[in-house]
Amino acid sequence: MKILVLPGDGIGPEITAATLQVLERADALWKLGLSWQREEIGLPSLKKEGTTLPPRVLEAARAAAGVILGPLATFDYPARDKGGVNPSAEFRTKLDLYANIRPAKSRLGVGLTGKPVDLVIYRENTEGFYADRNVHEGVGEVMPTPEMARSVRRVTAKCSERIARRSFEAAVGRRGMVTAVHKANVFRVSDGLWLREVRKVAREFPKVQLEEVIVDAMAALLLRDPMRFDVIVAENMYGDILSDEASELSGGLGLGGSINAGDSYCVAQAQHGSAPDIAGKDRANPTSLILSAAMLLQWLAPRKGNEALAVAAKRIEAAVDAVLKDPATRTADLGGTLGTREFAKAVAAKLG
Ligand code: NAD
Repeated sequence: MKILVLPGDGIGPEITAATLQVLERADALWKLGLSWQREEIGLPSLKKEGTTLPPRVLEAARAAAGVILGPLATFDYPARDKGGVNPSAEFRTKLDLYANIRPAKSRLGVGLTGKPVDLVIYRENTEGFYADRNVHEGVGEVMPTPEMARSVRRVTAKCSERIARRSFEAAVGRRGMVTAVHKANVFRVSDGLWLREVRKVAREFPKVQLEEVIVDAMAALLLRDPMRFDVIVAENMYGDILSDEASELSGGLGLGGSINAGDSYCVAQAQHGSAPDIAGKDRANPTSLILSAAMLLQWLAPRKGNEALAVAAKRIEAAVDAVLKDPATRTADLGGTLGTREFAKAVAAKLG
């Protein structure tokens, strides 16, 4: 089963190597039949090929069973006509990866507040305020005069409905609660449409409790009482912001796994960015990408009819937990002394 590996920018190559070390151990233990196809994207490919996403990479993603995508220094990319394509956005739209699934779970027993967290955010991934993916041609942001900029936001019934459905399905296997985030008091039309679709789906899941919370209150309630939330469903930007908050609450940005999934494709991607301040120093915490890769295995298990993939995913998560539990085997961002490579070695060893 071929997995496309795209190390990306900044700390990407380091955390990708760490993730592969863990996956290779899992592959050997549970005979998963994984193989890797590595391709360069981001700033290295911009230098060599004039684009941050060579077209063949998108085709390789379509042909692979799954993709492991390192973080991207998108802020440093040139404009699209100068080769600066955001691979993350391109995959999300071209492969229709409409669900960005981001669990936040306290892994060290301590987070920002010391309160336990165990929730998952279902973030709509293909429209909303994201100007690079919400129009058919061009971008959804324009500057009619040097003193004025405008952004358009797209909310459709189709995209709202399908992300809502995935979030309710997830709640059935969890604590049975969905919190729909919105700002319908201001965006009466667009967030009104969003809520209409969420409520429609909710009627099909009578055992799941639906709560609707305005996004600004949500930011506060997450801090006050994180365990009140089980599955959170949100449009693209609200979900992006809240998932960083939830991740930080659970112990840190470097801890949360994340997949971008559609009906046919899945891309495992860390929640954090390319961390240029610590790139190349063996200081990055690879947990987020390792857990994302485990989520990819979990996603693949029913599709490939291979239970071993689900077993491996659970065992990787348990191994990460066990290594993080001991302060002596944490990375620098968590007050520990292990480098990226040593941390990966410890997780791989814990697998057995
Ligand atoms: P960032 O997430 O890269 O870093 C924020 C802070 O967290 C930094 O201090 C960094 O050192 C730290 N950090 C992040 N990941 C870490 C890890 N695994 N281990 C230890 N510490 C970690 O966010 P930023 O600095 O705002 O953005 C840097 C670049 O990343 C920008 O070009 C931005 O556009 C891009 N970005 C990409 C993605 C993505 O690829 N999905 C997401 C967010 C930001």
